Amino acid sequence: MPPTPTQLRDWDNAHVWHPFTAMEAYREEFAPIIDSGDGFEVIDVEGRRYLDGTSSLWCNVHGHRVPEIDQAIRDQLGRIGHSTLLGLSSPPSIELARRLVERVPAGLTKVFYSDSGATAVEAALKIAVQFHHQKPGSEERTLFAAVGGGYHGDTLGAVSVGRVERFHAMYGGLLFPTVVLPCPSGYRLPAGHDAASWRVHCEAELERVVEQYRDQLAALIIEPLVQGAAGIQVHPAGYLRKAREVTQRHGVLLIADEVAVGFGRTGTLFACEQEQVKPDLLCLGKGITGGYLPLAATLCTETIFEAFLGPHSAGRTFYHGHTYTGNALGCAAAMASLKLLEQHCVLENVNANAALIERQLAPLQSHPHVGEVRQKGILVGIELVQDRESKLAFPAVRRMGHQVTLAARRRGAIIRPMGDVVTLIPAPAMPGELVRTLCEILIDSIKEATTAG
Ligand SMILES: *Cc1c(COP(=O)(O)O)cnc(C)c1O
Repeated sequence: MPPTPTQLRDWDNAHVWHPFTAMEAYREEFAPIIDSGDGFEVIDVEGRRYLDGTSSLWCNVHGHRVPEIDQAIRDQLGRIGHSTLLGLSSPPSIELARRLVERVPAGLTKVFYSDSGATAVEAALKIAVQFHHQKPGSEERTLFAAVGGGYHGDTLGAVSVGRVERFHAMYGGLLFPTVVLPCPSGYRLPAGHDAASWRVHCEAELERVVEQYRDQLAALIIEPLVQGAAGIQVHPAGYLRKAREVTQRHGVLLIADEVAVGFGRTGTLFACEQEQVKPDLLCLGKGITGGYLPLAATLCTETIFEAFLGPHSAGRTFYHGHTYTGNALGCAAAMASLKLLEQHCVLENVNANAALIERQLAPLQSHPHVGEVRQKGILVGIELVQDRESKLAFPAVRRMGHQVTLAARRRGAIIRPMGDVVTLIPAPAMPGELVRTLCEILIDSIKEATTAG
């Protein structure tokens, strides 16, 4: 007999520690226990259906239980579930590498697999340092530059380049120093600045800092176009391009972390395309398998790869790897997902839905408790405030973003806030009518939560 919903609830509370979750509150909240998925809905153990408004945390692309991806995984299961890439190879990892290289910005020809966004970033950071170490004359380049408020994962290297004071203050001593550039966008800008002057200031800082640390910097890491976890901060057009120009000029590598924005969410397959930027290293995760399995990849240029070649005695090998690196099931799912992105014209759907969301959410622009609606493609962040004029935040104890999430849940949609920024991250292939419903639920939930008590 399978466990009953009540047993599952009790056992969940007894044993499961949920990530990024305030566990004391969680135990009282009876969060849905998701048992199955159907297209763009998830279904809990009691049979309630919810529209998946977060793409199951930004990774689902084509919906759940997609016949073609399910079949690709089944076919691969008929051969082998997993074998190691440490010194051996496998057809799915080879074919996927080839397909990825065809589609990513030109010049990225080598694929280093891992199993999560954070590990893709860790690999990129270590590759950057080792690359310089093995290149005569640049051995001292071990420092990283990063954009303020950036997020690159939760392992210590990733946290070092993406520190959030509230989450990471206690780990300070474990983190390596990073040069932090001001984020070129923001809802509350320093006194005396408007968006235009802030942008000019941030570009000047980018130039100044990279030049100042030019002999120490291994790389600049950036989330291209949109800083997701910062609350969907959309960079002004041209900033990414500028970052590429400045780093190139000083021999500093550019690491593009497309873990969140990759695979269509900004309207192009990769965000870098929109500013014709070719990074030296590219981190992919989340959507790579269509949101099915843990797989990630760090891509790099031929120049970087070549610095790791040489006789065994030269010690140039990249001594880094994760057990499930290049997992065969994950690679099979990723290939099926890539094929569907083309066959189903998913990018066109993203662009149509981006326009639809903009129209649907227009009424929020004048809502008294909405400070700002930020959007790039189908990545949407709505900043809730107590007072629109003064940009005064709601008291933290009200957990306003969380209240909106609970209100949306009662209306049959799953969304997830980041503080008081409510986000809407539909799957790239979600049909327009479901996106419209999500927008309606979101507006109603914001109204309910902000007018209550
Ligand atoms: C989610 C995310 C990561 C970390 O990915 P995990 O799979 O959670 O380790 C890294 N970078 C960005 C930009 C992300 O959004």
